[in-house]
Amino acid sequence: MADCIFCKIAKKQISSDIVYEDKKILAFLDNRPASLGHTLVVPKTHAETLDKLDEDSLKSLILSVQKVSKAISKFSQGYNVIQNNKEVAGQIVHHIHFHVVPRNDGDGIRWNRPNPVFSEKEIKNVIEKIKSNLNL
Ligand code: 5GP
Ligand code: ZN
Repeated sequence: MADCIFCKIAKKQISSDIVYEDKKILAFLDNRPASLGHTLVVPKTHAETLDKLDEDSLKSLILSVQKVSKAISKFSQGYNVIQNNKEVAGQIVHHIHFHVVPRNDGDGIRWNRPNPVFSEKEIKNVIEKIKSNLNL
């Protein structure tokens, strides 16, 4: 996509700190990292969200996320893998990407979330909604 920042990074029109690259995938450091080594893994072809990505690209993408995670696990105590879809979920760059965030004791990172309570009826309904939309 013409004015997509991650397409431009993937095409090397904008520079980035690349840590891994193959035919389909680029992994580079986030320029506003949550921790040292915070890496973004992106397909070179544009898709906005996970649900829009073709299967082949998704396979390459998730395997690359694991590759980067294996590397990060060698020098950090743990790591988070995060993937946001749509602005309401925190997606700022509209080109699918996984965050791999190295974690260590005392790093101060907090992913706070509310814990709402739902009725049995609501839970039953949402199970049905998910199941009935699985093969669409
Ligand atoms: P999102 O909130 O969309 O899941 O995360 C987008 C991430 O991309 C953010 O953490 C942000 O710091 C990072 N980012 C945005 N623009 C650039 C850029 O031009 N270069 C790099 N390396 N990272 C970027
Ligand atoms: Zn793009």
